[in-house]
Amino acid sequence: MAATEKIDMSVFERRESEVRSYSRGWPTVFDTALGSRLRDETGREYLDFFGGAGVLNYGHNNPVFKEALLDYISRDGVAHSLDMASVAKREFLESIESRILTPRGLDYKVQFPGPTGTNAVEAALKLARKVTGRESVINFTNAFHGMTLGSLSVTGNSMKRGGAGIPLVHATPMPFDNYFDGVTEDFHWFSRVLDDSGSGLNRPAAVIVETVQGEGGVNVARPEWLRGLAELCAERDILLIVDDVQMGCGRTGPFFSFEIAGITPDIVTVSKSISGFGLPLALTLFKSELDMWLPGEHNGTFRGNNHAFVTGRAALETYWADDKLEKETLRKGEMVRGRLDEIADGHDGVSTRGRGLIQALAFADKAAAGKVCAAAFDRGLLLETAGPDDEVVKLLPPLTTTDEEFAEGLDIMAESVDQVLG
Ligand code: PMP
Repeated sequence: MAATEKIDMSVFERRESEVRSYSRGWPTVFDTALGSRLRDETGREYLDFFGGAGVLNYGHNNPVFKEALLDYISRDGVAHSLDMASVAKREFLESIESRILTPRGLDYKVQFPGPTGTNAVEAALKLARKVTGRESVINFTNAFHGMTLGSLSVTGNSMKRGGAGIPLVHATPMPFDNYFDGVTEDFHWFSRVLDDSGSGLNRPAAVIVETVQGEGGVNVARPEWLRGLAELCAERDILLIVDDVQMGCGRTGPFFSFEIAGITPDIVTVSKSISGFGLPLALTLFKSELDMWLPGEHNGTFRGNNHAFVTGRAALETYWADDKLEKETLRKGEMVRGRLDEIADGHDGVSTRGRGLIQALAFADKAAAGKVCAAAFDRGLLLETAGPDDEVVKLLPPLTTTDEEFAEGLDIMAESVDQVLG
């Protein structure tokens, strides 16, 4: 009997909305997790190269953060406090300042929008519009910024956009890096329509960009492309928003994914791994001079998740007091890429892409990616697809995954690709 046959999924099928998705691709019921491994209720173990879609950069139930949280809870530390000042928030802000902002020379103010990535993006878009007095925003082909209306308007995926049920307006997509396979000069079209009073493009408030498009298929922008974009924005007085919800917190190596390009965005969104533990927390960071919010002009009940502040501070103090994690992420990323290149070289129509520990295999036969993920699941490995046609197998493992665990997971990937492509 297959391990999953004795799993009871009936209440999910009977009662949970059809909108559920991951539980379809991974038809089991997970119960416990530690480090890079999840365990289902039958005791079967899964190696996790999905990492909560970027939430678990430091692994599941990281023991250091767990202890800090247990201590806080057992001394009745305040759990909920809207945006009141709390000791947990003070300590978190101090760590953001001393471990992240000051060493990088970044004079950002910190806004706690709502608890998820899309809340950080909404706040960023609202602030950009408020500061500039302009309405439209430039986004990029295959971008993903979230599911609420403002974020969805700057998201590319047509299926997701269709869910809005109303026109999504005030956003204009431009080609992301290498959209034309290097045929067209990088900002030819964008700068032309910006400068042509007959182009029909309203002067935008902001440009929103991911340095590596995670959901859009692991499309990696070159540092020189990002620099070109930052220059174009600065020259024309357009605000640059980097959405680092998925690629931030060390995923590509440095804490912020834009550091590789040496640019300073006007606004940055961070979420997913910022709490370190899987607790909801999001930040919108912006240059001090942009802080034109009036008190309470943007609010929300769950802006201050004190438990997330406690684990988030533990994460910053444990992993960002030096550059060890960054160096290890780059080393492991190269190792993973080397092995993926070998897998790709052994088959026609498979290519690799990525940066740091966001890596991927792209399949010319688009249906193959989903089949590879299914074959990997059968072998105890969690892998997700990405891209407009789910044609890419994306690796988003915890950064704390060991070399042995990588070897084990990559062996499973190689077998799974062999099984699907023959
Ligand atoms: N921006 C980016 C770049 C993302 O990858 C995501 C989530 N995948 C979001 C925003 C939205 O975050 P959330 O799902 O937490 O709202």
